[in-house]
Amino acid sequence: MRKKLVAGNWKMHGSLAENTALLNALKPALVGVNAVVCVPFPYLAQAQAILSGSSIAWGAQNLSEHNKGAYTGEVSASMLLDFGCSYVIVGHSERRSQYGESDELVAGKYVAAQAAGLTPILCVGESLDERESGVTEAVVARQLDAVIKLAGVDSLAAAIVAYEPVWAIGTGKTASPEQAQAVHAFIRGKIAALNPDLASRLIIQYGGSVKAANAAELMAQPDIGASLVANEFVAICQAGAK
Ligand code: PEP
Repeated sequence: MRKKLVAGNWKMHGSLAENTALLNALKPALVGVNAVVCVPFPYLAQAQAILSGSSIAWGAQNLSEHNKGAYTGEVSASMLLDFGCSYVIVGHSERRSQYGESDELVAGKYVAAQAAGLTPILCVGESLDERESGVTEAVVARQLDAVIKLAGVDSLAAAIVAYEPVWAIGTGKTASPEQAQAVHAFIRGKIAALNPDLASRLIIQYGGSVKAANAAELMAQPDIGASLVANEFVAICQAGAK
């Protein structure tokens, strides 16, 4: 059976005090659950201090495609490693749409993450316009192809793919289990055409307004291995652990 992972994207939320309370509450609640929290850069040291030795991993929400140099304001993969990160989100739709990250830049970040030994959580997904114009699969394929071109399909053995339809992120609109399953099956099928064994093991998460109330139904779909979520984290993790 595929390993399940539940990932929580904090986005630009939190404070030292709030995180202390939340992370300490997650620790006992998530014993035995394969979970990761992706916190803002300044809180990585705090996540490391609180979560070390627990079953919860931590990671960042972005990284530079460069390893070091004159890139003011950027954070490299090796810096994330210094704070015990094991995961990093790349290509979140908010980075793609609000910060102009192209498929090629996302692929560069993916490569930088893997080169340092971090597991990239590669986000893909279509906008509402794209879904309504019937190009969902073409968009997801294009986003995956940029990574496959730069890093090779086999690199996905050390990555997580997260299908996050842009229209569902933070909107309260969730893809139905059938809609999500259809795209997950498309992603798995696309990878299977290149490497069937890898495809059968690939974790493909769904993200977009996952709630405790719909997590179990989504994760019951054959190709949905886990979920990327921000709210109701403990309940969702528990649904993912079943
Ligand atoms: C996300 O930002 O990755 C996400 C899934 O957000 P939300 O759960 O708020 O839709």
